[in-house]
Amino acid sequence: MPMLADPSQKYKPYTPLVLKDRQWPSKTFTKAPIWLSTDLRDGNQALANPMTIEQKTLFFRQLVKCGIKQIEVAYPAASDTDFGFVRGLIENNEIPDDVWIQVLTPARGDLIRRSIDAVAGSKHAIIHMYNATSPLFREVVFRNSEEETIELAAKHTKIVRQLTEECTAKHGTQFIYEYSPETYTQTEPDFALRICEAVKQAWGKAGPGEDRIIFNLPSTVEIAPPNHYADQASCCEISLSTILTLVQIEDFCNRISEREKIIVSVHPHNDRGTGIASAELGILAGGDRVEGCLFGNGERTGNVDLVNLALNLYTQGISPGLDFSDMQSVIDVVTQCNDLPVHPRHPYAGELVFTAFSGSHQDAIKKGFESQKALHAAAAAKGEPRYWNMPYLPIDPADLGQNYEAVIRVNSQSGKGGIAYLIKQHLKLDLPRKLQVAFYQVVQAISDREAREMTIEDITDAFRSTYYFGGAKWKGRLALRNFKISTERPSDLSDSDSDAEETRHFDGTLAVDGTYRVIRGDGNGPLSALLAALRTHLDIDFAVRDYSEHIISEGTDAKAASYVELVPANDRKAATSWWGVGVDSDIARSGLRAVLSAVNRAIGDRVLPELKLSVGFTAGSGQADVSSAIVNSLGLELPRRLQSSFFEVVQRQARDAGGEISYEAVTALFQKTYGFNVEGAFNKVSLTSHKLKQLGEGRRQLIGEFLFSGEPRSITGEGNGPLSSVIAALQTQVQGTFSIREYSEHSIGEGADVVAASYVDLAYEVAGSKKRSAWGVVTDADITTSGINAILSAVNRLDVVFN
Ligand SMILES: [Zn+2]
Repeated sequence: MPMLADPSQKYKPYTPLVLKDRQWPSKTFTKAPIWLSTDLRDGNQALANPMTIEQKTLFFRQLVKCGIKQIEVAYPAASDTDFGFVRGLIENNEIPDDVWIQVLTPARGDLIRRSIDAVAGSKHAIIHMYNATSPLFREVVFRNSEEETIELAAKHTKIVRQLTEECTAKHGTQFIYEYSPETYTQTEPDFALRICEAVKQAWGKAGPGEDRIIFNLPSTVEIAPPNHYADQASCCEISLSTILTLVQIEDFCNRISEREKIIVSVHPHNDRGTGIASAELGILAGGDRVEGCLFGNGERTGNVDLVNLALNLYTQGISPGLDFSDMQSVIDVVTQCNDLPVHPRHPYAGELVFTAFSGSHQDAIKKGFESQKALHAAAAAKGEPRYWNMPYLPIDPADLGQNYEAVIRVNSQSGKGGIAYLIKQHLKLDLPRKLQVAFYQVVQAISDREAREMTIEDITDAFRSTYYFGGAKWKGRLALRNFKISTERPSDLSDSDSDAEETRHFDGTLAVDGTYRVIRGDGNGPLSALLAALRTHLDIDFAVRDYSEHIISEGTDAKAASYVELVPANDRKAATSWWGVGVDSDIARSGLRAVLSAVNRAIGDRVLPELKLSVGFTAGSGQADVSSAIVNSLGLELPRRLQSSFFEVVQRQARDAGGEISYEAVTALFQKTYGFNVEGAFNKVSLTSHKLKQLGEGRRQLIGEFLFSGEPRSITGEGNGPLSSVIAALQTQVQGTFSIREYSEHSIGEGADVVAASYVDLAYEVAGSKKRSAWGVVTDADITTSGINAILSAVNRLDVVFN
């Protein structure tokens, strides 16, 4: 049968209760209600496979851990398993002193006795008796009159009183009595009130505080909107339909006598999807207590969800008295026990509730976090509370032990803001807006192609591979190995025109497709000098259109992040551009890395000019090409003046050889010229061993064992460092004077294999001779030894007059 065009022919609307002067609509929450968990009773009986005793025990412990002080543990009269479970809790001392266990019993003498036997010996117990009060049940199911129904409730209440008093006398158990006019919401309000008054009278000892009697007003099956439950305030189990009305609760609370001796309890189910609203409005209407289950398990559509209710209060600044700081472990225990999943969209607990996929939400959250950070800092400075105020996030996920990882997730609906947020969170990069747009297109293309959600790792990997960012794994075709930026002041220094631009020289070594290339260029800044070098040596011609940078501070060491947008040098307004990113502790290096990142993106797999090693007056090789040969064969990155000096040597050799020189010949020529790794290079003076002493005030003393033309000599010298000390020591053995014109060093290799390369240009002057100089080039695992030997290497190649 399909849905009817006129459902009024099949379904009747509820009959509202007319209540004047309603109070609940304008009330607000001020404190948490008393919570009763019925997970182990109403929840358990709704399961296809009821929980085992082990599962119920685990669940009970979790409820205690969450701070629930009233727990309906069983329907012991109905099942031996339930009875055994309750006895186990008591006999194994599972129940903390401040927790009340509750058991449900129908109004039948033998079943009441069995229920009380179940809880005997516990410290605190609530006996929860119900009978059917709605007309449908009275008339159709049980064929009782109103008077007979009242008489039945009163009579069995007296039995409860007598048996509990006997139990208290014998076992010391303290009792509270709870009565439910079953399917309250379908019971005529006047009749429900009459039966509750009769039950109260039969109990005969309701008092304030812990002596209060609980009237539970179940809306076993919701049939009306929650506003009416509030008016009516109403267990459960069997029913067909219930009139759940707020009007009823307010009305009940207003009219019941001795209100102070009563706990009004609400027990909503969720048939209309309004269980939460019914419970909240029921409390506003006067309810003191809520019966429900964690995550809303329970008959049919479930009991009202206590987690949801508690956290609704929490987000209003009211402590619920329950602790869900570790939400995931609560979910794990509950799902493991009742074998029901928590819906991914479940309020507060669902896997996706702190997740934003949509671009506009992500953007709002990203901005919200930023603004909240500033507001919190300001509030903290003033000693004021740091209020949570975030778009789309009513609660701080951290309060529930959830992290922010999941807050922003990316699929094809996501926007650049969310992606930028993730990059900031995970790579600490604050992308400029135009780069956000550019990277967003990259992510969208991947997301569309793969038709799936992208994980954080997918996104960061995409970023790294797109921009050749973050380590050897992501290296592009061009990678910076070493560089030096030097500045040349405008030639006329007497001219005080400070606007005159300085020229920057870039001298560096790049790895290009795995081969080292020495390149150099000039510009008005480091980036343009690098771009000039790329143009000269590699035919790569770009200009910078946009540049920005920021600091990334992590603890004590700060790094610079640089962002560069490159365009073709001859088309500054080009529609196509390439972004690059660089991070380094050195800001100049971070900018240069960013340029190379963008260049790598721009060149794709374009063929680059190869290293030419045909040297001669007509051939195209220059100093940089010769130097590239040396860095590739020997790992040495020659200082610029040594490059020039060696280039002259190469040119002479090439001219003698007819204009051509091979790669191998260049390397051999370098070794021979500078005595680098050549037998006999130190035959005039060599170092056997040395010690360096600290003399204070930065002074050092070198004590060295040397061989002078094979003859050992022990000599010492003092200076400000190892090099000046060795010069001072050598000075004692020669006529004339040494001076260091230039010294530099760099490392070669990585990790345990790293060695130091030292370069020294040493001058020597002796009376009656022209001043002369020589380069010394040495590598050694120890940097001090490398520096000392570089000096000795030069000394060996100078025509020195020894004493
Ligand atoms: Zn129920």
